[in-house]
Amino acid sequence: MRICKKCFEPDTRPGQVFNKEGVCTPCQVQATKISAEEWERRHLELMEVVDWARKRRSRGGYDCVIGVSGGKDSTCLALFAREVGMNPLLVCCTYPPQQFTELGAYDLSNLVSLGFDLLTVNIAPEVMKTAIRHSFFKFANWCKPSEMALYSSIPRIALSHGIALACAGENPFLTFGNECGSLDGDASNIFTMNTLDGGDLTPYLEDGNTVENMLLFKFPDKEKWADKTLRMIYLGYYIKDWSLSNNGKKAIENGLKVRTGIEADPARTGAYHNHTFLDEDFVIVNNFLKYLKFGFGQAAQQVSDDIRHGYLRREDMADFVQKYDGRCDGEYIRRFIEYIDITEEAFWEVANKARNLDIWEEVNDEWKLKVRHD
Ligand SMILES: [Zn+2]
Repeated sequence: MRICKKCFEPDTRPGQVFNKEGVCTPCQVQATKISAEEWERRHLELMEVVDWARKRRSRGGYDCVIGVSGGKDSTCLALFAREVGMNPLLVCCTYPPQQFTELGAYDLSNLVSLGFDLLTVNIAPEVMKTAIRHSFFKFANWCKPSEMALYSSIPRIALSHGIALACAGENPFLTFGNECGSLDGDASNIFTMNTLDGGDLTPYLEDGNTVENMLLFKFPDKEKWADKTLRMIYLGYYIKDWSLSNNGKKAIENGLKVRTGIEADPARTGAYHNHTFLDEDFVIVNNFLKYLKFGFGQAAQQVSDDIRHGYLRREDMADFVQKYDGRCDGEYIRRFIEYIDITEEAFWEVANKARNLDIWEEVNDEWKLKVRHD
């Protein structure tokens, strides 16, 4: 694997393309400084979309639906929508009680207290747990069904409330280099994102899960939008100061509480920032599995974003990334094993199989990434 010359992004992320100078897509995007004219164009584009949606709303006074978790990004999305004159309806697909943290509940309440209307979608815990377990076994990635429920709830709630505009957060291609079928603010192809598999529920229809009891995971039929009753956009594309650190700063100024103490220790979380994954801990386990599959974790990803935005220098952070990327405390793994009700052996069998031997090699009983420096 190769690492970007400007940040710590590897070329192993699905969809990531390096140029011939060895620079990753998000660094290339960031290097093309977006001009004042372009920001003005984006603003006008957004206002046109909002105007279009206002003319089509069938009832209520909401201009759009925004999918939120209560974390830093969603706080910034909601505040931005209000700043540009929109009245958003927020939708949160919350985690099951066994997974949702107190911090997450606090931050979601904080978002409501900033003066927003919020609808929550709660999936029956057993259905979600079964889907998560099968997602873990089949893909070594438990997050897929959670993401499906989250992303599908945005257009579904919009359609059911007669609101013509549905908003997701950032365009994952521009931020990370992930495939998502769009280079701009259009999110209508979000379901083609590689983690969403076109919304296919088949892998999760096991142990009593049926199409009927998994309705809340299902994306509304695209044909239903074909008559132009709904548009879906990445609202983050229209926000000028959108970045990991800026969003964190702004959300904290607006009451967001962050991870503290040992829960913010990079040796346990594998992360650089304390304002990420506030609402649950199992994503740390997923990041660890991703590290085995693709050779990068949250520390590399977060530090890279800060380098692109000028908050950190690559040369100062190499040791940090080397030391903490992919770290995941055993306690998070134990709690995850307990939650999806599997044995420790079953967990490690999946994890060990997930390790990509094209990028890893064992040297003196230690696993090392095979990084190419050219
Ligand atoms: Zn880069």
